[in-house]
Amino acid sequence: MKLLCVLILFAVNFSAQATCVVKGPNVVMLTLDGVRNQEFFRGTDSFHRRKIARPQRGSIFKKFWKDHAQNGVVLGHKESHTIASQVAISLPSYQAIMTGHATDCRNNSCGQVKEDTIFDRLQKELKLSEKDLAIFASWQGMKFSVSKLPQDHQLFIYPDTVKSESLPKEILELQEKAMSDLPAWKESRKDHYTFEMGINYLEKFCPRVLYISLVDSDEFGNANDYPGYINSLKIYDDYIDRLISTLEKLGAYGEQTSLIVTTDHSRGEALRWTSHGYDDNANKNVFLFATGRGIKKVGKEKAKTSHSQIKPTIEYLMGLKPKGEVLPFVEVK
Ligand SMILES: [Zn+2]
Repeated sequence: MKLLCVLILFAVNFSAQATCVVKGPNVVMLTLDGVRNQEFFRGTDSFHRRKIARPQRGSIFKKFWKDHAQNGVVLGHKESHTIASQVAISLPSYQAIMTGHATDCRNNSCGQVKEDTIFDRLQKELKLSEKDLAIFASWQGMKFSVSKLPQDHQLFIYPDTVKSESLPKEILELQEKAMSDLPAWKESRKDHYTFEMGINYLEKFCPRVLYISLVDSDEFGNANDYPGYINSLKIYDDYIDRLISTLEKLGAYGEQTSLIVTTDHSRGEALRWTSHGYDDNANKNVFLFATGRGIKKVGKEKAKTSHSQIKPTIEYLMGLKPKGEVLPFVEVK
């Protein structure tokens, strides 16, 4: 029986590896919208304890802290990581992540990013094929941050539905189902669909660059639904675990892949937790985790860092000359 199990595991592992062609280094990025570092590092907030049943209080990102934190670098505790935009609002912050600096965007209605983003540079300079760069996002506003010319990329951003015969039927079905199972808030699909599409794509196409952008957490926060917010974070803990185990399963491709996980902004403290915008806490109380190829296994670190370093770090990891300062504990040998 034991031998049979080993043979089955080998077969599953072999089939996963066999579908992946290693074309060079790869980067996967996951962003979780509006997640405070107190929930990420410490768990449920004592200020809101009465909203959470006693057994549910405490650590939230349990799998992450138990199995993954030590296998990479975790930045942002003690307010040591800051966002790069001048306001802690989604679109300005995403534009700053993608361009490496604050743009003139001040709110979610500022329109298309006006300069090349990390994805624009990667696609142009590495001459990536259409399937090698894929972006999945729950919130429709992401379209204004990921590229100066979004039509040049393969985007799976709500509400657009990509209809390509070259896509697996699972992804096509998830896109359709998401449109008939929309969340209580507007302008987004549920994260469940976005994530499942993204991870399915990762397994099928082994892209050079994959970005998954999730938003449920921020919507529960905006709605003053602390239990809903905590539940979304627990699901994200599971997603981080699944991304890492999927990359491990993908063999040599996974070994050549770096993973970055972060949030676009934090939120206010205590009663002000529902808002972010111009709250100082929302600029500083953010986090970043990186693991995989080129990332040192140092765990929690207090280095002073910023979202402005994400773009240069991805450029460096992908073999391009970084335009800006690379994050610490990142070194490709
Ligand atoms: Zn946001």
